[in-house]
Amino acid sequence: MKILFCASEVAPFAKTGGLADVCGTLPLALEKRGIEIILTLPRYQCVDVKKFQLKRIDDDFWVTKIGKGISVYFIEHEKYFGRKGIYGSTKGGYPDNLERFSYYCRKSLELIKKINFKAEVVHCHDWQTALIAVYLKFIYGGDAFYKKVKSVLTIHNLAYQGLFTPQEFLKLGLPQELYSINGFEFYNKLNLLKGGIIFSDYVTTVSRTYAVEIQTDTLGCGLAGVLRARKNPLAGILNGIDDTMWNPTTDPWLQKRYSSDSLEHKYQNKERVQKDFKLPTRSDAPLFGFVGRLSAQKGLDLLWQAVDEIASLDLQMVILGTGEEKYHRLLKRMARRCPKKIAVGLEYNEPLAHRIYAGCDIFLMPSVYEPCGLSQMISLKYGTIPLVFKTGGLAETVIAFNSSNAKGNGFVFDRYDKNTFLKTVKKAVAAYKNKTLFRKLIERAFTYDFSWDESARGYQELYQRCVQSV
Ligand code: ADP
Repeated sequence: MKILFCASEVAPFAKTGGLADVCGTLPLALEKRGIEIILTLPRYQCVDVKKFQLKRIDDDFWVTKIGKGISVYFIEHEKYFGRKGIYGSTKGGYPDNLERFSYYCRKSLELIKKINFKAEVVHCHDWQTALIAVYLKFIYGGDAFYKKVKSVLTIHNLAYQGLFTPQEFLKLGLPQELYSINGFEFYNKLNLLKGGIIFSDYVTTVSRTYAVEIQTDTLGCGLAGVLRARKNPLAGILNGIDDTMWNPTTDPWLQKRYSSDSLEHKYQNKERVQKDFKLPTRSDAPLFGFVGRLSAQKGLDLLWQAVDEIASLDLQMVILGTGEEKYHRLLKRMARRCPKKIAVGLEYNEPLAHRIYAGCDIFLMPSVYEPCGLSQMISLKYGTIPLVFKTGGLAETVIAFNSSNAKGNGFVFDRYDKNTFLKTVKKAVAAYKNKTLFRKLIERAFTYDFSWDESARGYQELYQRCVQSV
């Protein structure tokens, strides 16, 4: 089977969040299952030609290889992609994002004809690639080369929809009638994701729970009805993590590597993180960690509401992230308020992120919603116990710890309010103080398997269904 896989970020080339991790590792797992797959993404400024050994094909395309033999094609366009950011800056998205990503979509389709790659399915991810399904149906479908190509759209986060002014619709080169309530029109705005949801053959998202949640008005971001109206029901396939990249026994960025049999080495990482963040080096208090995009989704407002009570507990906390300016300010204030207990790093720093996953005792993820979430799976892999809100993929991967039978793998709160959150934080601190119990929890964490095999099987079955459908 031949698959064209299109994503606006793919690790290790360009990354702002979990989408890149998924799109950098799922293709490798699919290749292992015998699927022939190629990738496309824009050649952003951050994609280092030398480091990644990119070879120039012509003015428009570069190529390199990952896995055993997966070609990754980069679309070159200095005006659109030769700038510092991927989507924008801390002040918001770039004003020409519609031109940038519609160009990328068309070029991805043109590429497969140029190199004669007879894709059976094109697998798109999020709003930046949602137009591909529409172009296939209304522009390229007339060409015999593209006629039988099916499309799958995976929604990694429904809150990001690619909204533009109605006037910009003209720039897409699509029939005017598609700008209607049954197409791209969305409360008097142009909505690229909505177009993709309507015109893709299959739509999936990244956990079964989130698939259900986004068909309700609470988490449907205005598109619940559109999702419910689809002929093929929305599928939820849980993401995995790359266990070569996320592995405490081989991780090159750790102070000291470890496994469940050498937990004493995990604590050397704790000391290193405390030093990195200029916190007192203590082993008797739990170290909480947070790594993530600084946006409302990630629950920083709840943390802020509870910060004084949290600071009165016997714990330490390190926070690493970048994102909205508002949260940069908020976190700086938190650190100033509790200098001995809370420390923040406002940057994107992969080695430090790895050390936080390894060095902390508890990983904090109070997300308001979370389509899948990778950080909780990564932290478990490093024997660091997640504390999460029961939502989306978090609800599927983190099971509340029960001290009476020592079952479960984390701390879970199921009401999104300050008191319930605080109660759970206190529970985690108390559990940490019971050394035997906490050690059991850590040992259990290591037994969870979040590798890609199962999810890749799910996508393979979906591609097959797709190809067989008329
Ligand atoms: P999302 O996709 O919503 O951003 P996920 O939990 O799915 O959240 O994935 C986040 C990924 O991005 C993880 O691999 C996490 O370690 C990484 N990450 C987020 N912020 C940073 C940062 N400031 N520095 C390093 N890695 C980060």
